[in-house]
Amino acid sequence: MTNDLQELLASVPTGLFINGEFVDAESGSTFEVINPSTGTALAQVAAASASDAQRGFDAVCQAQAEWAATPARERSEILHRTYEYLLEHEDELTLLQSAELGRALADSRAEVAYGAEFFRWFAEEAVRIRGDYRHAPGGDARLVTVRQPVGPCLAITPWNFPLAMGARKIAPALAAGCTIAIKPASKTPLTMLFLAQALREAGLPKGLLSVLPTADSANVSALLEDPRLRKFTFTGSTQVGQELAAQASKRSINTSLELGGNAPYVVFEDADIDAAAKAVAVAKMRGAGQVCIAANRFLVQESIKDEFVERVVKVIQEFTLGPGTAESSDYGPLSGKDQVDKVTELVDDALDHGAQRLLGDSLPEGLDNGGYYYPATVLTNVGEGARIHSEEIFGPVVVVDTFSDEGEALAKANDTQFGLAAYVFTQDMDRALRVAEGIEAGMVAVNKGGLSNAAAPFGGVKESGLGREGGFEGIDEYLETKFIALPL
Ligand code: NAD
Repeated sequence: MTNDLQELLASVPTGLFINGEFVDAESGSTFEVINPSTGTALAQVAAASASDAQRGFDAVCQAQAEWAATPARERSEILHRTYEYLLEHEDELTLLQSAELGRALADSRAEVAYGAEFFRWFAEEAVRIRGDYRHAPGGDARLVTVRQPVGPCLAITPWNFPLAMGARKIAPALAAGCTIAIKPASKTPLTMLFLAQALREAGLPKGLLSVLPTADSANVSALLEDPRLRKFTFTGSTQVGQELAAQASKRSINTSLELGGNAPYVVFEDADIDAAAKAVAVAKMRGAGQVCIAANRFLVQESIKDEFVERVVKVIQEFTLGPGTAESSDYGPLSGKDQVDKVTELVDDALDHGAQRLLGDSLPEGLDNGGYYYPATVLTNVGEGARIHSEEIFGPVVVVDTFSDEGEALAKANDTQFGLAAYVFTQDMDRALRVAEGIEAGMVAVNKGGLSNAAAPFGGVKESGLGREGGFEGIDEYLETKFIALPL
């Protein structure tokens, strides 16, 4: 652990954030945050009990009416100052994320820029919320619509993008005039607490935001039963999201879900093969593959398979595995032993189904320090029925399959219950658009390995989710349309 990190950790709040203050849990209980690069404790964070969660939610409910009545310009300015604060503290936030997530510094730095951008984008959207005025077709009424904040929100976020997943919910909620209680993942609560501090420094009035870390998530999801809750927004695995959505549906709570993916990465023989191979650096290696939009299934036209695989192996061999906070690391460990076990199981199962492992037999030397490392792996010839074809890998594992023509490429790409992101590589723009339109996914990248942008709608179809975050659409998730009828 560097001195910089020790100094930073001493300054990062570790309490629950309620009513503008960082406070201990009522019982004083805490839980340990582990550094995945070493397997050792990084910090102790206050653990919200069910009654702490209730206290946090009471605070946001009490603050709701006044915030909804606050002029949009004031809401916007607080969000804009938050954006600036996050950029001013880019170095600390980069280091903090890499420490608690184990992710390489360059990836964490990119997330600071991405996460901060949601505050700038929604600061700009806050002042553009508009209604509508029309006449009834029969000429007998005036029809007026207004957009109003949906009301107090509950958010639950995953560990893999500890800043951006919170920012994508908190920024539009506050922009729309909603208050929000949020539970960060227990693996990475420090970044969200840092964000609460940023919002406080930016002038966020007391009570608008509660941050409720806990090791027992049921303490917070119990709030789904609170009759004052108006909105539930979840990012995480499909299984947990669906269970919580079922709970929320009992009271018809407005629900948004950002769930798991199984992205196809389709490379046609007319593609720039070198560019398609290099894009794997982002589509697969970012965050060691622990990204919901990470390419999960590489579908490559038969005629170029060998060349593509050879180039991908070369690209990946350039990546250095090491501690997230080390400047020399291009990718870091997985987030915990649970992830290592899961990826190991999927790869072992693929090998049992006849897979050939071209890379990833063993860890580089010197990484037996208790960290949760998994080597970048390339598999080909994985037999049918292997779990790795249908399950989200969430690790640095490239699985290459082939197709013969466009029809088969589309059929294979769509042969999944997920529909978050997809990638297409071809130099034929007609084909690119045809395939992009035919793929069952919420987002398609053409000839590039990344697609996230605060100005674009992020979200999935099928079992990858409901609703969109970011873009013009992102604020709609936190607004209700009210219709007011007037005589003509
Ligand atoms: P997860 O579903 O295990 O956990 C997500 C959040 O839910 C965490 O805060 C966790 O503590 C909480 N949680 C878990 N069980 C709960 C329960 N029974 N009640 C209440 N809360 C509960 O997911 P994860 O492992 O943190 O994140 C990885 C998953 O998230 C992957 O599937 C990934 O694809 C998905 N993800 C999706 C997006 C997207 O935008 N679609 C973005 C990032 C991650």
